[in-house]
Amino acid sequence: MISVIIPAYNEESVIEKTTGVISGILKEAKILYELIFVDDGSKDKTWEKITLASKKDNYVKGVHFSRNFGKEAAIMAGLSESKGDCCVVIDCDLQHPPEKIVEMYNLWEQGYEVVEGQKSSRGKEGKIHGFAARTFYSIISAVTGFNMENASDFKLLDRKAVNVLINMREKNTFFRALSSWIGFKTTSVQFDVQDREIGESKWSTTSLIKYAIRNISAFSTVPMQVITILGVVTFIISILIGGISLLQKLQHQALEGFTTIILIQLFSSSIIMISLGIIGYYIAKIYEEIKDRPRYIVSKTCGEEQNEKFIK
Ligand code: UDP
Ligand code: MG
Repeated sequence: MISVIIPAYNEESVIEKTTGVISGILKEAKILYELIFVDDGSKDKTWEKITLASKKDNYVKGVHFSRNFGKEAAIMAGLSESKGDCCVVIDCDLQHPPEKIVEMYNLWEQGYEVVEGQKSSRGKEGKIHGFAARTFYSIISAVTGFNMENASDFKLLDRKAVNVLINMREKNTFFRALSSWIGFKTTSVQFDVQDREIGESKWSTTSLIKYAIRNISAFSTVPMQVITILGVVTFIISILIGGISLLQKLQHQALEGFTTIILIQLFSSSIIMISLGIIGYYIAKIYEEIKDRPRYIVSKTCGEEQNEKFIK
């Protein structure tokens, strides 16, 4: 059986269509399936639509978060609820072509344990948004050591890989990169990002920047090493300038140099502040992880057996 995991946040307009399209494709391909919708604390009628779908079709399950926890948490929740021998994660808005699931499934049957969906085109995006996304992906590729340029969350994972992911203790997960990091026998399929038909993208450029900083820090401590390098550079400069000023002092040639002093002061104190900020950011992340709060809180479930599943 394949578990199809669908994170949904304010997607009332597409739930019914998505259920129909994916079920249709999988039924036609004669693949046993379950659809797991994870309602990420939607404010619209998404949950009602999911419950309705689960009553109509007993292959549909739903998990409802107590508030919005983000797509990463929704993916993890879907993975832990899944029972399939493999799982595929797909966007609710049908921007990931569902017919590719069959192709991914066939590859899985051939023995691949991770099948990555790679974007062959990015679809319609604004200029700034596209630029921000490309910059982020080139940085994240550099820090993770995997080529993430065309990576997406559209992936099929074998049960073994799913178990590894759901047993990871880190709370700040970055699904796209973690699924490469875990290794396993991997292959990829290309897909074209479809246009979003109904509803709108949940990402603004600022949320993308926050997402970028969070995920870069989750995979790399290079920003802190940069501080050390900056320290060494400023130390070398200070020895040079210090030597010169000392020499001038000894020769009774010390110039006034008040402006220089102010500039150096401003420059070095701003570097110190930025450095403290970077270190502080990492400490905040340690603090968050150490509190060990749950990744998400499930308030309701629907479909199949209605277990008492509350906090995961
Ligand atoms: N999503 C989610 N939680 C959020 C934001 C988005 O579960 O906080 C889901 C959303 O419902 C969709 C998928 O993540 O299924 C991708 O979101 P979206 O289409 O807004 O992003 P884009 O396609 O622009 O990357
Ligand atoms: Mg989308």
